[in-house]
Amino acid sequence: MKKEENKLEKIVSLAKRRGFAYQGSEIYGGLSGMWDYGPFGVALKNNIKNLWWKTFVDERENIYGLDAAIIMNSKVLEASGHLKNFTETLVECDKCKKQFRADHIEGYKCPDCGGELEKEKQFNEMFETSIGASKDSSSVVYLRPETAQGIFTNFKNIIDSFHPRLPFGIAQIGKAFRNEINARDFLFRAREFEQMEIEFFINPPVNDEWKKYFEDWRKLILKWLNKIGFTKDIIYESEVSDKDRAHYSKKTIDFEYDFPFGRGELLGLAYRTDYDLKNHKLDYFDDKTGERFIPHVIEPSFGVDRMVFAVLSQAYTEDNLGDEVRTYLKLPANIAPIKAAFFPLLKNKIELVKKARKIFEMIKKEIPHILFDDNGNIGKRYRRQDEIGTPHCITIDFDTMQDGSVTLRDRDTGKQKRIKIEEIISYISV
Ligand code: ATP
Repeated sequence: MKKEENKLEKIVSLAKRRGFAYQGSEIYGGLSGMWDYGPFGVALKNNIKNLWWKTFVDERENIYGLDAAIIMNSKVLEASGHLKNFTETLVECDKCKKQFRADHIEGYKCPDCGGELEKEKQFNEMFETSIGASKDSSSVVYLRPETAQGIFTNFKNIIDSFHPRLPFGIAQIGKAFRNEINARDFLFRAREFEQMEIEFFINPPVNDEWKKYFEDWRKLILKWLNKIGFTKDIIYESEVSDKDRAHYSKKTIDFEYDFPFGRGELLGLAYRTDYDLKNHKLDYFDDKTGERFIPHVIEPSFGVDRMVFAVLSQAYTEDNLGDEVRTYLKLPANIAPIKAAFFPLLKNKIELVKKARKIFEMIKKEIPHILFDDNGNIGKRYRRQDEIGTPHCITIDFDTMQDGSVTLRDRDTGKQKRIKIEEIISYISV
């Protein structure tokens, strides 16, 4: 466990050093549970989101994309049960006054100082704000705690505009906010985070028919995870017990991953029944059968930030080379922020730099996510790219001027080979 704790610190430090993620409001001492993504972090995050959107929206015919407002009429969250039920039990230490989520604590003692834990109370995790100039009870609004409600409230709009037949889905990627009692474990438990959710609407099931759709989604999730390197053997499915399930769900499977701090939920798959549409008084008219009814819902809910953290953890590798340790991110090429880096062998040889820039600019027109680096010696440049997870480095040297070949170095093996300039694209495209 100690080693893994160490790994968490190493990942947080690499993320900061190399421009993946910074503590939010850092220059003012930070703000707990908030993270800012730097250039490579946002690139990695966008690659994950784009792959998700491509797989679940663009490549399908029956899933509609949506981007709903974060702040909704409070009546939405009242009807969905969030005002009443989106709570956690909080306990406070009588000695150090620190507060904890009751279900994250084992025993009755404060994990920090050993004091008695007391004062159990319910705490609603929604962030409250107000809308407009007058601050009275009618102006109270909340930052959404899940993207799902924006989907349900647009159910009727999608039906009116597109007349989809069941089953069909609505997908959304967007921010969600939860005033977590203890924000912790890097990007895992943040107070502002992003979700990728699909509400998949099905006919009211006869004889457990929903199980078939649930199983289809379970497989689709595993297939998608596999695309970004999470093979089945490192994903743990865990069925959530009746006691721990969210207020709207009849069955939930958590897909878990071994993060450096321990096993944690990466995403969830829930059978939300007709709970939400019923509460919002929404229904569906089947013009073939002439029936009006309330569809049921299967919901895959992915956390973008947990996905980024899991990707970084899975990719983080140290090779012991005797007198030094090589640290690199074994990122799958399809989501790596930078696909290749281009170096002139020597910075002070004008003709090499010119040639390298010419090749770089030519390739950049085809593959935009590449970069040019002539800072420091080659060894340092490799180390920088290794820590960013760049799959290939291409060096332009004196032989390039003679025979049009370059050196291609592979991130994982460190092996180098010479290839022709015309071959570069085929090696680095994903
Ligand atoms: P947990 O039990 O860890 O608090 P949850 O079961 O409340 O999570 P869901 O409500 O199922 O989470 O939310 C769906 C997904 O949103 C989660 O699987 C996770 O990936 C993401 N998520 C939820 N809360 C957070 C958070 N505080 N920070 C980052 N991601 C989160």
